[in-house]
Amino acid sequence: MSVVLFTSDLRLHDNPVLTAALRSAPRVVPLFVVDSGIAAAGFAVPNRAAFLADCLASLDEGLRARGGRLVVRSGEVVAETCRVAAATGAGEVHVAAGVSGYALRREERLRSALAADGRRLRVHDAVVTAVPPGAVLPAGKDHFAVFTPYFRRWSAEPLRPVLPAPRAVRLPGVDSEPLPAAAALARGTASPALPRGGESEGRRRLAAWQRGGLARYADRHDDLAGDATSRLSPHLHFGSLSPVELVASARERAAAGCAGAAAFVRQLAWRDFHHQMLAARPDAAHRDYRPRHDRWREAPAELAAWRSGLTGYPLVDAAMRRLAHEGWMHNRARLIAASFLTKTLYLDWRDGARHFLDLLVDGDVADNQLNWQWVAGTGSDTRPHRVLNPLAQADRFDPDGAYVRRWVPELAGVPGRAVHRPWRLPARERARLDYPEPVVSLEEGLTRFRQARGLT
Ligand SMILES: Cc1cc2nc3c(=O)[nH]c(=O)nc-3n(C[C@H](O)[C@H](O)[C@H](O)COP(=O)(O)OP(=O)(O)OC[C@H]3O[C@@H](n4cnc5c(N)ncnc54)[C@H](O)[C@@H]3O)c2cc1C
Repeated sequence: MSVVLFTSDLRLHDNPVLTAALRSAPRVVPLFVVDSGIAAAGFAVPNRAAFLADCLASLDEGLRARGGRLVVRSGEVVAETCRVAAATGAGEVHVAAGVSGYALRREERLRSALAADGRRLRVHDAVVTAVPPGAVLPAGKDHFAVFTPYFRRWSAEPLRPVLPAPRAVRLPGVDSEPLPAAAALARGTASPALPRGGESEGRRRLAAWQRGGLARYADRHDDLAGDATSRLSPHLHFGSLSPVELVASARERAAAGCAGAAAFVRQLAWRDFHHQMLAARPDAAHRDYRPRHDRWREAPAELAAWRSGLTGYPLVDAAMRRLAHEGWMHNRARLIAASFLTKTLYLDWRDGARHFLDLLVDGDVADNQLNWQWVAGTGSDTRPHRVLNPLAQADRFDPDGAYVRRWVPELAGVPGRAVHRPWRLPARERARLDYPEPVVSLEEGLTRFRQARGLT
């Protein structure tokens, strides 16, 4: 008997944790623990809860189709797992290797609690990332701090084989709580237009992406209104799709000359890059990875304006309102919104990262915190003081203003690029718009930031 503890690997296809458990024992307990520690850490939020509930339902359906089902428990994850292992007489518990401080502590606690009972924890790599943290290293260091050399080594690293979904899963007698509904996983109201979660939905999206958008990804991934990216990030976060499977198939297409696939592989490598940074420096979730001696401003009204999409900079506001509506934001928009908060307003990246984590369906400690640090210049960016000008970015990535008109309805009637600079409209037209003045001038923001970083 063995237990599979599902964490960030909520899938049947290409799941080394499940495959290993099934190889080692004729009967397995596919277990998910609704972990009270995650809620206590403030990480259980309505948008991700909705996606998680879909993932658990899809996993249960897939297991039932194979003769099994998902066993659900709620409580403290280590205690519940040990309880299930003891009740079923399981000798081993299988789990995916994680990278966050929380996951690493969970692993340690599980290992010792199981060992105290004469049971064994088996931890599996290349489940949550394509290339495991630490698999490629610079000479004499425990992780890569710069993306380009990492990407070179990562690209040459072979992947483990992609595994099929099991044909049958047989369970011992064990009881389960009912599958949790989203409302039971987090308190609060979810965004109105969330994507659906779950492995079946993820596989459908992946197939559509490979048939459609992927080929043109290199040219179109920065087009804000075109929305031409994969939207697979929440599936990667919850593991309803496998990063190894995605990278393997994209590498194959790239080798066959598909430029879109080559660009897509590079983005997937960024994901692994941030995971290996966090695995080596778990405190980078909260502490500056490279301190710049910032003394961030305190400006609650400006932070509130940024959060609610009322900064007076239409592109920033469009991005923030979409986040509230869909629990998702385009990568280019994330860069612009984060640069605006940290460099133009000069507010602490942790406040921005917290707001993103409260809403993003793909909200992920490694990807979110380390991207925020990259933008703030406290992370791995080799040009830490670069400031994205939201107007130049708007002209480049939303050239006819379609993205802004979609997400800022007050400006829907403003034609062309004028929508990016409503303050330049004739006074009479301007007065008719129910839209705020810029919260700060870009020049003032830039001067303040450059002074703060000692660049002037
Ligand atoms: C400030 C900020 C915060 C972010 N927070 C998160 C987060 O919490 N969770 C998250 O998954 N991504 C985060 N990202 C990265 C990126 O914006 C999203 O992964 C991407 O927008 C998801 O959309 P997609 O699946 O359509 O991406 P695609 O363009 O289709 O890319 C494919 C996949 O590559 C990965 N990827 C792409 N860009 C990055 C990147 N810069 N860093 C890491 N992985 C990347 C994602 O897994 C993504 O699904 C953040 C970026 C910034 C600038």
